[in-house]
Amino acid sequence: MFASISGPRRPSLPRAARHARRLAVLATAAVALAATGLAVAATPSSAAACNGYVGLTFDDGPTGSTGALLSVLRANNVRATMFNVGQNVQGNPSAARAQVDAGMWVANHSWNHAHMTSMSQSQMQSDLSQTNSAIQSATGVRPQLFRPPYGETNSTLQSVASSLGLRQVIWDVDSQDWNGASVSQIVSNASRLQAGQVILMHDGIQNTRDAIPQIMANLNSRGLCPGMISPSTGRAVAPDGTPPPTTAPPTGSPTTPPPGGGCTATATFPNVWGDRYNTSVTVQGASTWTVVVAVTAPQRISTTWNGTPSWDSTGYVMTMRSNGSGNTFGFTTMTNGNSSARPQIRSCTAG
Ligand SMILES: [Zn+2]
Repeated sequence: MFASISGPRRPSLPRAARHARRLAVLATAAVALAATGLAVAATPSSAAACNGYVGLTFDDGPTGSTGALLSVLRANNVRATMFNVGQNVQGNPSAARAQVDAGMWVANHSWNHAHMTSMSQSQMQSDLSQTNSAIQSATGVRPQLFRPPYGETNSTLQSVASSLGLRQVIWDVDSQDWNGASVSQIVSNASRLQAGQVILMHDGIQNTRDAIPQIMANLNSRGLCPGMISPSTGRAVAPDGTPPPTTAPPTGSPTTPPPGGGCTATATFPNVWGDRYNTSVTVQGASTWTVVVAVTAPQRISTTWNGTPSWDSTGYVMTMRSNGSGNTFGFTTMTNGNSSARPQIRSCTAG
């Protein structure tokens, strides 16, 4: 997972509480939706030229406004991945079915959005199994992807998920919709998406729905299309699962990337402890590179490896340059009380 840092932030600690409170409200609202039912037809497929794919994800549903979300997605020819909460699916199976009928992929976001890293292995196992069962019985689809609530994970949780056939997927870009972001802020955050990457959004938020047409206009202008998240790689691929098209290199420059060209940096979080966590960032598309990473205050990066770091005046934005140690660098971040935020990759530049 990543959390974005873009300008001044409110204190971050209420994230979990805010999230939990909203879930309770949404669970109640879901009952209303069940009564009204949903009328959703098959999704028309878009034939736009795609240079790459991104994964749009909506967490915490189904909710009382899942039908409204699906209408917006269909109107914009979007197929997205819905990370559903098991008990919401159980309470409103018709909304989960409507997601699939609208062309969405359904995935596992735990049974009731608990902090799973404090569970025992067997608790994790039953939580994820119960959620898989609810989704499968509502939709006929067995989930292949899992996103831990709050992006909080550890090696036990990852191995439990894996044993159930679930690929863990966090995110590359945080829309900040859960944090009260405006429509324009959500659109701006989404504009950082690069091919293969995944963005975190939520079911049940009006600003998120209102941002979708502008998000799609931005993606289309950059030749990016909404895709599915590959259960084997966790990256966004074409909706039918085929890898993205390879573009022929420009004549006369067969192998050398243009100076200052792009690359892709992908972060994972292999270790999470009570007071700190490790981030591992792998760069693709360049052998020498500069990656800019931001952490969320009051978190602080304490140690780095396999790169040469420099810092902006705030100390929260790190520019990491390759130093001949390969294409994966890492760093340790002290949470300083904010255990939920994760670093955001702002850019990857070749050379
Ligand atoms: Zn969630």
